[in-house]
Amino acid sequence: MRQRTGWKSLAVASAIVLFSAAPSVQGADVDALAQAVEARVVAWRRDIHQHPELGNREFRTAALVAEHLQGLGLEVRTGIAHTGVVGILRGGKPGPRIALRADMDALPVTERVDLPFASRVTTEYRGQTVGVMHACGHDAHVAILMGVAAVLAGMREELAGEVMFIFQPAEEGPPEGEDGGAELMLREGLFDDFLPAAVFGLHVIAGIPSDTITVRPGPFMAAADSFRIVVKGRQTHGSRPWSGVDPIVVAADIVSTTQTLVSRRSDLTRAPVVVSFGAVQGGIRENIIPDEVELIGTIRTFETEMREEIFSGLRAIAEHIAAAHGATVVLDVPWETGYPVTYNHVGLTAAMDEALRRAARGKVIEMPPITGAEDFSFYGHHAPALFFFVGATPPDQDMNAAAINHSPLFYVDEAALGLGTRAMLEVALEFLRTGGE
Ligand SMILES: [Zn+2]
Ligand SMILES: [Zn+2]
Repeated sequence: MRQRTGWKSLAVASAIVLFSAAPSVQGADVDALAQAVEARVVAWRRDIHQHPELGNREFRTAALVAEHLQGLGLEVRTGIAHTGVVGILRGGKPGPRIALRADMDALPVTERVDLPFASRVTTEYRGQTVGVMHACGHDAHVAILMGVAAVLAGMREELAGEVMFIFQPAEEGPPEGEDGGAELMLREGLFDDFLPAAVFGLHVIAGIPSDTITVRPGPFMAAADSFRIVVKGRQTHGSRPWSGVDPIVVAADIVSTTQTLVSRRSDLTRAPVVVSFGAVQGGIRENIIPDEVELIGTIRTFETEMREEIFSGLRAIAEHIAAAHGATVVLDVPWETGYPVTYNHVGLTAAMDEALRRAARGKVIEMPPITGAEDFSFYGHHAPALFFFVGATPPDQDMNAAAINHSPLFYVDEAALGLGTRAMLEVALEFLRTGGE
């Protein structure tokens, strides 16, 4: 288990309040500014969508971003946490430092959306040939932040403050055996010479109309941990199960009984909990009972205590069920401790409410906590952070029927690109103008 520092160090929290920036770029017409880059944002996003790259392999995307930022005259660093790109824009006037973040990686999903720029890319992933798709919309995040960088660079002389643009690899997790993502960028010194007074990030999300922003102060997204259980039996002929120990039946029992961890043993009135198995692997042939079966899955929690209870409960279930069958288990519970809870700084969220409302023409909805996890959470351990969702589904469609993020049918309405660009510009300009007060 990794130790996490608290999100609310006093020094960091007070930075927001102490800084008072000289008013600048007041009355900037964000609509017009966003509109001026909209066509390019759409083109970038289609291009990136057609050329998706998995975590730590975002070579083409990173090159595209770096070339763009250099062209804007920003100070650019590449190769952070493998493929990360960071650009710094220094405004013409003194003011606060902020950071804006986009993630760049795609997923091992085979696209089934009928688009002229649909992905046809395939790759090797965990020993299988799979399609690669921007099924979480990170292509949109990259394009939006490239557009925001173009706009802010264009008004550099009037800007009071400094803006760091973070293009982050591997939000969905690095390949097995590698490090990556926000945590590695921070470990490699992302904020060493540039500690922002606020960090902003957004995510496009299906099932919310593309004219709407959703946000929530406090705990917003879950902690995500993975687990791995290897059931060890004894291989034998399928016709003579009594000569061995069948790990498939044991694994099935473990999967079933684990359901009671959530349904019978977690106090769901306190906070939501999710335990899901994502893969069951074992065996090779219909008449051979295999030696072992591997179970892997994910755990989502919003409270440390409930997180620990799930870990110990899952270990006990696996051990005792295996013992009852005469089998044994190798437990990695947790296997990888994943992202911590994504926490929206309460003061910052309140201070940015008006800016988000301007971007969404008033359509800002407070959302219940969600069981997805985000490594944006790590930035919040260093500076007040705000993460919000931009709807991705055309407003005239049935929200409940929209294919969710990570689905091969995940679809981003291009109106979300304009909304995301306006929202990032609004919060950035608002914070630079007011220092977050
Ligand atoms: Zn995702
Ligand atoms: Zn994502």
